[in-house]
Amino acid sequence: MALTTGLETIFTADAPLAERTWFGVGGPAAQLAQPASADQMAEVVTRCRDDATPVRLLGSGSNVLARDAGVPGVVILLDDPEFARVRVEGARVRVGAGASLATVINETVRAGLAGLDTLVGIPGTVGAALHHNAGGRGGDIGQWVAEATVMTRAGETLTRERSEMVFGYRESSLDELAIVEAVFELEQADPSELTKRMQKQWIVSKASQPMSHQRRGQIFRNPRGMSAGMLIDQAGLKGATIGGASVSDKHANFFVAAESATSDDLLKLIDLVRNRVHERMGIELELAIEIW
Ligand SMILES: Cc1cc2nc3c(=O)[nH]c(=O)nc-3n(C[C@H](O)[C@H](O)[C@H](O)COP(=O)(O)OP(=O)(O)OC[C@H]3O[C@@H](n4cnc5c(N)ncnc54)[C@H](O)[C@@H]3O)c2cc1C
Repeated sequence: MALTTGLETIFTADAPLAERTWFGVGGPAAQLAQPASADQMAEVVTRCRDDATPVRLLGSGSNVLARDAGVPGVVILLDDPEFARVRVEGARVRVGAGASLATVINETVRAGLAGLDTLVGIPGTVGAALHHNAGGRGGDIGQWVAEATVMTRAGETLTRERSEMVFGYRESSLDELAIVEAVFELEQADPSELTKRMQKQWIVSKASQPMSHQRRGQIFRNPRGMSAGMLIDQAGLKGATIGGASVSDKHANFFVAAESATSDDLLKLIDLVRNRVHERMGIELELAIEIW
């Protein structure tokens, strides 16, 4: 049986990834799968395992740089409303992995639940945010998780309790193939106070990012106790450009891609910045963004 047999409606061959990633560059996924239920997702995952076909999850593509040559295997996108449910149950909120972080923050603030509001301004989906413990100055997402439902590479669904999960700087122990759903345990608070706090933080967060119309991504992890952006700035690389790719003038840990940019331009700029920072400061920058 072919990988897609009987599931033709959810598979797209040679699906462009440029339009699904924030840099807007790169080639197609050999197959894009958009399951409409967890059962269908499990079927896709099982077939990939049986076929030894590589499989990966794509969220909103704000932390992925797809190579110009394209991505082999199957890319699963949880963009069906089935995976975007947000249900508030007292101080707990149960969220599908495909829900956007922004939606969840808005819903929880409206319900008078504090915690996730500290993540305002971070783009992306809940599944991806948990996968690498997204966060910022206000804290990270991991601290609020009570439970997570994950899918293994064998298509099996498991529940992870809080005590089984470990979160570190931009990493989590949730390393199964996919996070499907999560439950957050939040704190009761006054919705109007929360809204004010969130708006303030949103302004701070936007002020330190490139303009929202720009095709952009955050490239490096902050080395311990240091800011990657500051190091790149000190190496004299703010505004550095290769082809259509530039280091942002506003915050040097963001790269921006012009209409003409290719994935290769961005990869060359990553190498240039890494090498220059290493030469000048002796620090090896590690990637935050994933290169597919
Ligand atoms: C302007 C801008 C600002 C940013 N600011 C921050 C910040 O302050 N803090 C921060 O931490 N990050 C920040 N980022 C990085 C990015 O927003 C986060 O990494 C975000 O969590 C990625 O979400 P996404 O849905 O776009 O994931 P994608 O880019 O689509 O995927 C990222 C990774 O998550 C995996 N993934 C996706 N869905 C799932 C799933 N359901 N289960 C398991 N794995 C999955 C993918 O396979 C991939 O490995 C910023 C990025 C941009 C462009």
